[in-house]
Amino acid sequence: MGRSPGNVRNPMQTSPDVAGTREAVAAARREGHRIGFVPTMGALHEGHLSLVDRARSECGFVVVSIFVNPTQFGPNEDLEKYPRPREEDLRACDRAGVDLVFEPTPDVLYPRGFDTFVEVDEVSRPWEGAHRPTHFRGVTTVVLKLFNVVAPDAAYFGLKDYQQQLLIRRMCIDLDVPVEVVPCPTMRDPDGLAMSSRNRYLSPADREAALALSRGLADVERRLVEGATDVAGVRRDFRAALETNPAIDVDYATVVHPETLVELDDPRDEMVALVAARVGATRLIDNRVIRLG
Ligand code: AMP
Repeated sequence: MGRSPGNVRNPMQTSPDVAGTREAVAAARREGHRIGFVPTMGALHEGHLSLVDRARSECGFVVVSIFVNPTQFGPNEDLEKYPRPREEDLRACDRAGVDLVFEPTPDVLYPRGFDTFVEVDEVSRPWEGAHRPTHFRGVTTVVLKLFNVVAPDAAYFGLKDYQQQLLIRRMCIDLDVPVEVVPCPTMRDPDGLAMSSRNRYLSPADREAALALSRGLADVERRLVEGATDVAGVRRDFRAALETNPAIDVDYATVVHPETLVELDDPRDEMVALVAARVGATRLIDNRVIRLG
């Protein structure tokens, strides 16, 4: 299995259920493979595939889940219209060398009577948590369930969703989940826009306006790396510059501590600039990890 030269790879498997997924993973484990896992909501792009590549480079058997998780969508969010290009996604997984795709329907993961949620406390509250109050409990609940089904050695998450990967790392530490969580860099289009399944909703004009997010983040990084010490001023300027653009409706634009997510007034060796904004009808998030010295 895997794709190293001279290795014949088994055909990609798909499984809609828990038992079939567990069996396929158990068989790979019996063959001695390290199991790598990439949870996704599908509508796969190069960002997702970069996680698959990283998993393949470190694991002999790679599982991708494709599941548009209803519990992480708020009542007025885009659950119904979230893109679900199943055949395209399966082809992309096959081309990327995925061994198994777990593609449950909602009733598989949330059967009648489902009544348990997992919540990370402090770090789930600000930023995304404040704007999407039930989002993170949906994320952590489904990720723990997926971990219990797939039982991977390592799971790969994008830094694109900075707060999400932080919460998942916290959950695994706090609940003794034996999965190595591997944060992976954000993939961007050549013009800097962070890749996202939601970018397909952007009109050409929205897409142009959306570039202000990544440019704003780059500007924050430049100022801090060049020695700005008034971090409070830098983050206020970041937000103010975005707010001058009528096409952009800012939820937050700030600079925070990388672990606590508390807003910073003074520089430290590592900081994270975070932004979330609606561009047209599409809500986008992005961030930049900034290291000094
Ligand atoms: P999603 O399908 O949006 O739930 O994303 C599945 C995984 O892909 C998450 O770990 C995301 O952080 C990651 N991801 C999404 N977009 C990107 C990107 N542009 N670069 C790297 N990883 C990404």
